[in-house]
Amino acid sequence: GCTAADVARALRAVAGVVAEHREELVRLDREIGDGDHGENLNRGFAALLSKLDGDLPSTPGAVLKLAATTLISTVGGAAGPLYGTAFLRAATSVGDAAELDGTLVATALQAALEGVVARGKAVVGDKTMVDALTPAVAAAESVASTGADVAGVLTAAAEAAEQGAESTVPLVARKGRASYLGERSAGHLDPGARSTSLLLRSFAGGAR
Ligand code: ADP
Ligand code: MG
Ligand code: MG
Repeated sequence: GCTAADVARALRAVAGVVAEHREELVRLDREIGDGDHGENLNRGFAALLSKLDGDLPSTPGAVLKLAATTLISTVGGAAGPLYGTAFLRAATSVGDAAELDGTLVATALQAALEGVVARGKAVVGDKTMVDALTPAVAAAESVASTGADVAGVLTAAAEAAEQGAESTVPLVARKGRASYLGERSAGHLDPGARSTSLLLRSFAGGAR
């Protein structure tokens, strides 16, 4: 199972990957947005990193909640409240379980997606992070139902998210700042879909 310390380690891995990909996310957001997505996320995960250096909460859910409140108060923009809500819903869905298994992780991802959709009202095809997260949840649930462990579920989710993110390239944005560009938003990878796939991939790596 995946303990609070394991979740904290996975989040540290995520923070490292966000820092490594800050420029890439900035560049993607410059193409169809305002160019701050990499800065926004990096600010949030750097803040989370320093909080994880303090006393760790004792359950996975409480660590996820710490991530949620930190991201909500530091990331800003459209993505801050969306990622914050995702982590908050994930935290709530696992309750006070001492350890996460594959099934709980799939449930948490489903809850995260529901939070993002409740908050941002995007559907698949709108060229947002929902295009990466939706197939990730489907893959996670299908792999979890075969009895896969946490790393297996997250790896399947990450692979599906990568494909989902790539699928945003030809799309015309219908939500967020990129939608102001209309047809000119086509031909670019959505920064939030890209960051979702990076988050899931690094979470999967960190959960091993
Ligand atoms: P901002 O656009 O406010 O500068 P960011 O650049 O941090 O915020 O985040 C932009 C990303 O947020 C987009 O690439 C998209 O994936 C995501 N996003 C924007 N609006 C929505 C929405 N309504 N639902 C889901 N995701 C959204
Ligand atoms: Mg932006
Ligand atoms: Mg902005």
